[in-house]
Parts: sequence; C-alpha cells; structure tokens
Amino acid sequence: MILEKYSEEWHREYGKHSSIPDCCIDYWIEHFSLYVNDLTSQHLEYLEKCNGWNYVACPKCLSRQNKVPIHRCDYSRLGCKRFLQRWLPIPAEKFSRSRKK
Ligand SMILES: [Zn+2]
Ligand SMILES: [Zn+2]
Repeated sequence: MILEKYSEEWHREYGKHSSIPDCCIDYWIEHFSLYVNDLTSQHLEYLEKCNGWNYVACPKCLSRQNKVPIHRCDYSRLGCKRFLQRWLPIPAEKFSRSRKK
C-alpha cells in the first residue's frame, strides 16, 4: 500500500531536492519505490552495488560511475525549499529505515 506522500511525484520531488539525477529517480520509482517494505534478494544485491553512493543509482550511472554529490539538509528545520513546493516535510528517519530493510 502506497501512501500519497510516497507517490511517484513525491519521490521525484524529494529526489530532485537531493540532487539525484532524473534517470536514477526514474529507476528508483520503477524498481524500488513499491518494494521498500518488501525487498527481494535482487533488490538487496542491487543495493549492495550502490554501496557508497548515498542513493540508488540507475544501472547506467552505476556502470559509468556517474556519482553525483547529494544535497543533504534538514529541510524541515531549515525550511529549505529547494524543489520542494507541494509536499510537507516528512520524517527522514522513516524513509531511511524502510530503505535499509
Ligand atoms: Zn542514473
Ligand atoms: Zn535542502
């Protein structure tokens, strides 16, 4: 079950906020966003490849080693509006906890 705040648009906006390339956001949405609470061994294998990337890169970026620096900020505290127009701040720990699984 997907909450609205984990909708495709939500992932896109927060991905952009973090400076993640569109191609990798697309990959995340298509291959991971629906399964964050139910990762398969293939997912885990893929995440292993992204170790040290700070985000899930798409296969193309992975093979080209096209790693981008991630914008990290506590947007809820700092009120950062970088690409965040429509969505309320979410507890970051919820997201990372479900991703680690
Ligand atoms: Zn990519
Ligand atoms: Zn920010």
